[in-house]
Amino acid sequence: MKKILLIDDKASIGKVVSIYFSKEYDFIYLENPIKAIEWLQEGNYPDLIISDIRMPEMTGDVFLRYMKKNELYKSIPIVMLSSEDSTTERIKLLEEGAADYILKPFNPLELKVRIKKIID
Ligand SMILES: [Mg+2]
Repeated sequence: MKKILLIDDKASIGKVVSIYFSKEYDFIYLENPIKAIEWLQEGNYPDLIISDIRMPEMTGDVFLRYMKKNELYKSIPIVMLSSEDSTTERIKLLEEGAADYILKPFNPLELKVRIKKIID
């Protein structure tokens, strides 16, 4: 079973996505990138990460840059979730290594299809 980590400061997003993903994937939800980095450093290695952008402790773009600069983690695909439809932001994140960019509010089924295209 492939392992997917979702990082979002809204627990409700974690719950909704969990409903759609838990049967097919080993699904882990964490509320901020700091906890995600700790979790990775404990030796956990997800097949894909879904990350929100606007989060109080560390923003998703900072987390993305951290991951893509790290030799150990840079190959993990990261799908970004944004609440702002900004072409500039989308281009920047894709250039920085994001695997995909999904606008909130999103349909969990669309998220699932896009993720399948990346890791299946
Ligand atoms: Mg947020």
